[in-house]
Amino acid sequence: MKKTILLTWGIVTLLTSCQFIGHNKYDANTIDSTALLAIEKVSLAKNISALSSNEFLGRKPFTKGDTLTVNYIENQFKSLGLSPGNGDSYFQEVPMVSIKTAPKIKELTFTNGSGKLSVQHLEDYVVGSKRLQEEIKVDNSELVFVGFGIVAPEFGWNDYKDIDVKGKTVIVMVSDPGKYNKNLFKADTMTYYGRWTYKFEEAARQGAAGVLLVHDTDAASYGWNVVRSGWTGPQLNLESQTNMANATEFEGWITAETTEKLFALAGKPLSLIDEAKSKGFKAVPLNVKTSVSLTNEIRKSSSNNVIAILKGSKEPEEVIIYTAHWDHLGVGEAVDGDSIYNGAIDNAAGVSALFEIAKAFKAAKIKPERSIVFLAVTAEEEGLLGSSYYAEHPIYPLSKTVANLNMDAFSPLGATKDVSIVGIGQTEIEDYVMTSAAKMGRTVKGDNNPSSGGFFRSDHFNFVKVGVPGLFMGSGSELLSTDTAETNSRRKALAGRYHSVNDEVDENWDFEGIVADIRLFFDIGYVMSMEKTFPNFKPKSEFKEISTKRLAK
Ligand SMILES: [Zn+2]
Repeated sequence: MKKTILLTWGIVTLLTSCQFIGHNKYDANTIDSTALLAIEKVSLAKNISALSSNEFLGRKPFTKGDTLTVNYIENQFKSLGLSPGNGDSYFQEVPMVSIKTAPKIKELTFTNGSGKLSVQHLEDYVVGSKRLQEEIKVDNSELVFVGFGIVAPEFGWNDYKDIDVKGKTVIVMVSDPGKYNKNLFKADTMTYYGRWTYKFEEAARQGAAGVLLVHDTDAASYGWNVVRSGWTGPQLNLESQTNMANATEFEGWITAETTEKLFALAGKPLSLIDEAKSKGFKAVPLNVKTSVSLTNEIRKSSSNNVIAILKGSKEPEEVIIYTAHWDHLGVGEAVDGDSIYNGAIDNAAGVSALFEIAKAFKAAKIKPERSIVFLAVTAEEEGLLGSSYYAEHPIYPLSKTVANLNMDAFSPLGATKDVSIVGIGQTEIEDYVMTSAAKMGRTVKGDNNPSSGGFFRSDHFNFVKVGVPGLFMGSGSELLSTDTAETNSRRKALAGRYHSVNDEVDENWDFEGIVADIRLFFDIGYVMSMEKTFPNFKPKSEFKEISTKRLAK
């Protein structure tokens, strides 16, 4: 199968070089084969192998692996002939804080006139704080059940209507109404209003003192164990000038069982949870109080985004930003004597793709008119922090940022006919994907599990949040190979590697699919670099408004 693919590329080469003879004029319907063929397997494999080798210690921020990785990326950018992306530097420093929160008392107690309910830390609830203060103390805060806790004017929804939650603690359901009623929101496709990060942000905007999310395995798409383990160690956050005073005093989760008991204490029927799924639901005060007191152990440190630019020939102020996170999980719990979480697919592959794409732009017969920025961000695994810092401290004005094309993991299973856009239906970048994919004989699909909100889970999302259209595209599922035996053994060998010590390069990798996907990423950005227009968000996107504001600046 590999041979067939190579042959196809051979034909493409011939055709397109013919088309370019005689007139050196850009045409979006052709492929610049010289540029495309600059993206190749040998250097790609070399870089992925190097970055995911044990020497790089799993590339965790603030470790020796951090220094080695950012220096490696800087050297690559230099040797590719890219200019420094931040003045005369290839680095953007990202100041961060690590907070280790512990409740002063392991029990959390809810009280009202008729009785009390005490629940156990980790077993029944978790709680933490983003505020950079050593002690948090919330006394006798009133509980209010606010359903989904969503304010979405474009969907005619406001769970905080006619209720003042200042100083109170809100009990909030995960997900959004579309999950339960296909006529609401975007039906099965989760909107940002369904993400737990949104719930915390909205409660803070409403002035609540605390938030407790009701865990629901089905709606959250992960079990209580994931919540629990995610809330036990220290949490990394960006340093903030306000010391995060705009966050609620505490954030946390309670189990479904705790919620049942809490409603029983309040003398409220559990059917409130179902009522909250319909339009017109009104928040319900529970006439129950709780007190929370926490200690925060705070440490400051910083890591770096690595950034380079290839200046455009006509509109150098307008930038298209390719991103890939360079960080991974570092050294952790040993499995069969191996304790290094190498992160080859996640995301040495994406970083190495940045280098290949830079090579292609350099090789292009007609130089890009807009500038191309290559941004390798830090601390994605800790909560998309490096990209969040960039979006809040953009080096290139957001009003001149055309789009973000984000690469986070590629499939080593082999070349596929299709490609998959995570969270399809958000932006007009998708039209570029369709055009470029068609040129390469490929088809475009949405992701398999839109209700899990994958669109909100990688670095492009921080661009989206500030109104810059972002693309998160991954490998498809229709393998071109007809050798099922080989495919099956590959699939078996590569299964279960996500976030494990086995995410490393070995003989089971087929690089053809990765190369093809990177070529597609290149062509999308290349076509865009020749355009005059800015891709927009689609009319039904929850980010359309902020995007319009960004362009007006
Ligand atoms: Zn990743």
